[in-house]
Amino acid sequence: MEQRGQTELLLRVMSSKKMQKRAQEIFNSLQERYPDAHCALNYSSPLELLFATILSAQSTDVGVNKATPELFKAFPTVQAYAKSTPEEIEPYISSIGLFRSKAKSIHSSANMIVDDFNGKVPDTMSDLIKLRGVARKTANVVLGNAFNKNEGVVVDTHVARLSQRFGLTAETKPEKIEKDLMDLFPQKQWCMLSHLLVWHGRQVCKKRGGSCNTDSICNRYCKNRDSV
Ligand code: SF4
Repeated sequence: MEQRGQTELLLRVMSSKKMQKRAQEIFNSLQERYPDAHCALNYSSPLELLFATILSAQSTDVGVNKATPELFKAFPTVQAYAKSTPEEIEPYISSIGLFRSKAKSIHSSANMIVDDFNGKVPDTMSDLIKLRGVARKTANVVLGNAFNKNEGVVVDTHVARLSQRFGLTAETKPEKIEKDLMDLFPQKQWCMLSHLLVWHGRQVCKKRGGSCNTDSICNRYCKNRDSV
């Protein structure tokens, strides 16, 4: 509550121009620190990224990356997934949480891609969210990374936490955090912004706090370091 109050106060007293300037400074500092920040899921095509992202819901990227090489080898085309059954997909992803429902999502999405999208992963938000297991967050990952389209900001647990701690939002719901970030950062930065915040979240700012007193970016921009 205290953290939210501090951020709300910050957002009220700073003009939007000042907020955007501060946001840009944060972006630049993170980019300088993490010049290689990128999507942590391994993939070599939009289809592989789509299915890796479906698999990553409530699971770790590391766990997904362990399972996908065999999955991608067994099903080299979207038609191969479509012709299979969820039960045939399951053994390849059984190490991942919710694997039965994710196998159904992959199988159903593959069929829709074959039947409705000419065998190609769609590259618009409105079409992607028609696929089973694909909501706005997954669609943003695919659009930003496989198609270089900045339609929105991917808000995962790291992005949500860091956005709050850096005073970029006072919201707690992902869709509202995403809107605040889209207002603060230029569109061309949306995909990279998410990678940078995830990188900082993984390496420095963990859920229960981090290098609060020793990290230069945190010392400069975190509004909550004394309360973590
Ligand atoms: S100061 Fe601490 S809480 Fe704030 S962003 Fe850095 S590591 Fe996270």
